[in-house]
Amino acid sequence: MGTNSRIVVVGGGIAGTMTALNLQRRGEHVTLIDRWEPGHSRAASSDYNRVIRAISGRDEFYTRWAREARQRWLELQAESGQNLMYECGALILATEGHCDWEDSTSETFDKVGVPYHRFNRDEIIARFPQFKVDDISYALYEPQAGLLMAHRCVITAIDLFKKAGGIVQRGHVTTDVNEKPMLDGKPLEADVIIIATGAWAADLFPRTIKPLSTIIGINVLYTSTPDGSDAFDMANMPCWIDHGQGSFGIPSSEGSGVKAAVVIPDKIDIENDERLIRQQSLVRTRSYIQRRLPLLEGEKIVDSKFNQVIITPDTHFIVDWHPQHENVLFAGGCSGHLFKHGPVFGDFTAGVAMRDYATADRFKVGARKKLSPKESPSGR
Ligand SMILES: Cc1cc2nc3c(=O)[nH]c(=O)nc-3n(C[C@H](O)[C@H](O)[C@H](O)COP(=O)(O)OP(=O)(O)OC[C@H]3O[C@@H](n4cnc5c(N)ncnc54)[C@H](O)[C@@H]3O)c2cc1C
Repeated sequence: MGTNSRIVVVGGGIAGTMTALNLQRRGEHVTLIDRWEPGHSRAASSDYNRVIRAISGRDEFYTRWAREARQRWLELQAESGQNLMYECGALILATEGHCDWEDSTSETFDKVGVPYHRFNRDEIIARFPQFKVDDISYALYEPQAGLLMAHRCVITAIDLFKKAGGIVQRGHVTTDVNEKPMLDGKPLEADVIIIATGAWAADLFPRTIKPLSTIIGINVLYTSTPDGSDAFDMANMPCWIDHGQGSFGIPSSEGSGVKAAVVIPDKIDIENDERLIRQQSLVRTRSYIQRRLPLLEGEKIVDSKFNQVIITPDTHFIVDWHPQHENVLFAGGCSGHLFKHGPVFGDFTAGVAMRDYATADRFKVGARKKLSPKESPSGR
């Protein structure tokens, strides 16, 4: 049984919805407030799909979280009857001469017990002829990785939250000069206020969150699959991570087309920019496709997304209390890898909110330092 606390969660992306759902199910009274309709396209959590993989370099913490999250997504899928996750596997391509992160991933997998295969170049070509791999030394294949239907995951979580008695409200939360959360010009009143506003947290909390944040735009293109061929469908192709080329991608899922993202950190004004793909990115993605997925050359762009992420110096999330307001808890700092962890992140944050335990050291607000690519969970 819960403590009947009144909780406000600000932000209806994956961090906010999963936290709200967990708290409501614990028996608290939760209101979730968002500026726009949950599932809207400005949120980082929108888009057709996101990769779920345990692959995190030498970082055991996120490796374990991702494994636990996979289990929770499967449970949410069974409960809701929605197709939330497809286990098409994930392939990390280790570029010759730059394999530190991939080498440490296999050590972590051995330790944690994550199933994987190591393929040499010939084996990659035999299994996944979609990829051209002349510059690749080897690949790690994680068969229980795959993709989450991101938009559907958010909408399903909102639906389950409402069914559990949670309230969803439209509103624009602001802060006063002391970073106190306000709604309609009045202080927000609740036992706990959880700030899950994604990249918007930086401007809302200029003293506490902004110094920890860099906001970057990421362009993603969807390319049509070859006429009459299912080689690039998720049934025949895994998600992939290609650090050597600063890229990752997802096979065509439910007709989406093949998603390729070449991560060129791009400026974005999250309040004012149109969410239109940048020309530079179009050119870079096309040349990436030509190099890595030559059978897609000449295929057409069928969709695109321009979205933001908020990155902390060490790429660890932020789950911590505001240093001045004892009932305000931050839940975000996505650093480009939060989606997959959604159910575990929500459960963990709910426990911190109800003061069952303190947050993890890595999630604290405060001085952080950049990690070397070898130490980093994302390899960046
Ligand atoms: C292109 C791209 C690819 C990615 N790929 C992956 C991947 O493969 N795997 C993975 O795990 N992660 C991936 N990520 C990261 C993942 O999508 C994010 O970490 C995650 O979606 C962040 O969720 P969030 O809830 O913190 O933020 P958001 O989804 O941005 O949600 C924030 C919400 O807060 C609301 N809000 C903001 N300000 C206010 C306010 N003042 N008042 C009220 N409401 C407010 C917004 O409207 C929004 O709905 C990717 C991200 C991008 C952009």
